[in-house]
Amino acid sequence: MKFLAVDDSSTMRKIVSLALKGAGHEVTEAEHGKDALAKLEGTSFDCIVLDINMPEMNGLEFLTARKFKPAVAKIPVIVLTTQDETSMRDQAMELGANAFLGKPFQKEDLLASVKKLLGV
Ligand SMILES: [Mg+2]
Repeated sequence: MKFLAVDDSSTMRKIVSLALKGAGHEVTEAEHGKDALAKLEGTSFDCIVLDINMPEMNGLEFLTARKFKPAVAKIPVIVLTTQDETSMRDQAMELGANAFLGKPFQKEDLLASVKKLLGV
């Protein structure tokens, strides 16, 4: 499956990439929401892993913008954030996120979310 890993931390992008690539997936990285939207323009992805705290366009702003782009709106989103409070989870899920994980995360938890959403 093709993943878009969106996070302003290059270290976090690497950790997510390694976990997904280890499970046989392809991963493209984006630095923030605007970068993600640009990368979603020409390419189709099966799943988006999304940070919340980012410059330019944060995760919540990305989820909002995504709703108005039909091709992007149907791609499942896994939110991965240090802000793992219930209020943030509720907000992200209300904006259309499909799964929510706190950082630091266990690789197994990310892969379990992927399996639940994509069946692989
Ligand atoms: Mg961040």
